[in-house]
Amino acid sequence: MAISLDIRHDQSLRDLNTFGIDVKAATLLRVTSIDDLKAVCAAPTLNVIRRLVLGGGSNLLLLGDVDGLVLQMANLGIAVTGEDEQQVFVTAQAGENWHRFVQWTIDHGFPGLENLSLIPGSVGASPIQNIGAYGSEMADCFHSLRAFDFDSGEMLSLAKKDCGFGYRDSVFKHALRDRIAIVDVTFALPKRWQPNLRYAELATEMAARGIADPTAKDISDAVIAIRSRKLPDPAKIGNAGSFFKNPVVTAEQRNALLAKYPSLVSYAQADGSYKLAAGWLIDQCGWKGKSIGAAGVHEKQALVLVNRGGASGGEILKLAKAIRDDVYASFGVLLEPEPVLV
Ligand SMILES: Cc1cc2nc3c(=O)[nH]c(=O)nc-3n(C[C@H](O)[C@H](O)[C@H](O)COP(=O)(O)OP(=O)(O)OC[C@H]3O[C@@H](n4cnc5c(N)ncnc54)[C@H](O)[C@@H]3O)c2cc1C
Repeated sequence: MAISLDIRHDQSLRDLNTFGIDVKAATLLRVTSIDDLKAVCAAPTLNVIRRLVLGGGSNLLLLGDVDGLVLQMANLGIAVTGEDEQQVFVTAQAGENWHRFVQWTIDHGFPGLENLSLIPGSVGASPIQNIGAYGSEMADCFHSLRAFDFDSGEMLSLAKKDCGFGYRDSVFKHALRDRIAIVDVTFALPKRWQPNLRYAELATEMAARGIADPTAKDISDAVIAIRSRKLPDPAKIGNAGSFFKNPVVTAEQRNALLAKYPSLVSYAQADGSYKLAAGWLIDQCGWKGKSIGAAGVHEKQALVLVNRGGASGGEILKLAKAIRDDVYASFGVLLEPEPVLV
């Protein structure tokens, strides 16, 4: 049976990326099923070389028009798909909004993802950079995913060990980049749940609220409150959250920097390395609140680059490069962008 695809041509992507960059897609397809993806693969006019799979557009910097096919993942559904003695398995379709999914799990009595409340974007994108916040990352509760492989036209199933999860990293940023569309993700949520208050700011917020024995909902509420205070709302000013990853350095490098800069902010990692606070490095170079053209550094968060109105992707990138060069010249540490440059 022929499938009718929801296709539009020459479409602005301005409202489909949180930076609000005004570029166009030659072809935009709303994907609501695996059959849509199979139809793309089978159609010679659609199975083009340039292809961009899009979720909520909250971790992208669009540098120009996409002269090909943009597939906007819009397949929906959340279901409990199994359990064993230790965990409940919940599967969400890629097009589900991440925060709404986290709230669904909490409301249905399946804790585990509460520290990741209010991260923008879709469920399907959550494995791409192994989203993380407040002492937790998606990989902690990840079980498996299914993806459509454009090369073979077949579905792939990937377990956690196949995904190469690291700090804001996965196989989807490397070997599988541009090759697959994640269709659904299954999470293993613990039956014997323990609150995770390792992140100092979260523990402080909980103490300030007078909550000694928090539920997952208490943690989610606290995370939402902290994030709403700290991070600019993309609906008000275009941004993609943290623009740079926190650089990871050896203990030697960190100790040398600490001797020179006693207020250096760093976090010890399990393997003996240290994560440096990229925001602190940028702030020390005097970039907070500065702008180049319509591209700016947020007044409160040096790590967040913003579109002050009508900035192009190239302008944001120019600002990012200037910051990267300054930080390198001052500290000898190279910052890497967190969003995907397209
Ligand atoms: C205000 C703000 C705060 C943020 N805070 C955090 C934070 O605390 N922690 C954090 O980790 N991130 C954070 N982010 C970044 C962002 O929210 C996450 O990276 C999120 O997972 C991106 O989801 P998305 O659907 O918007 O992806 P998009 O921006 O649409 O896509 C990002 C990448 O994933 C690919 N992709 C998207 N969907 C699929 C799919 N179904 N299959 C295959 N590839 C796909 C795209 O091709 C692209 O390469 C923040 C962003 C903003 C704007």
